[in-house]
Amino acid sequence: MSGRGWNVLRCSACNTCHGHRGTGNSCPHCGQKMGKNPTVVCTVQSAADLRIEVALANTPEELRDSLRKRLVKNEQLFQSDDQVSFTGLPQILQRAADEDGVFTVKQLQPVLQKSGQSLDVQDLIDIAESQGLLVRLDTNRWQVLE
Ligand SMILES: [Zn+2]
Repeated sequence: MSGRGWNVLRCSACNTCHGHRGTGNSCPHCGQKMGKNPTVVCTVQSAADLRIEVALANTPEELRDSLRKRLVKNEQLFQSDDQVSFTGLPQILQRAADEDGVFTVKQLQPVLQKSGQSLDVQDLIDIAESQGLLVRLDTNRWQVLE
């Protein structure tokens, strides 16, 4: 997979950020169309950077500095985060994805069920997206960020 940069976009309707290659999609959180001129919070060159920037963008400003330090130091931070208390989230996503790291809801559903999590597929995707673990490719395809 190669890309010319990744954008962190902020939805004007729900104010949540998500990662995207390019622009011009709907918000994964509230469904609002991003429009022709979405708010690009920043552009980064790698998927790993994107993950950090999305997580930071969704964090209250006063907490960002300490979060950034922890993120840069410890990539596993996501596992200690509040409502996703299970550590298997990245593994579930990886298992559902093909060799390019891409998956659809249909692929994710059985993997999630087998994992024994009570989460809805859509909830799982929302959480993973807001943590910067995923980037949406189109309406029904996501790419797992390493
Ligand atoms: Zn939104």
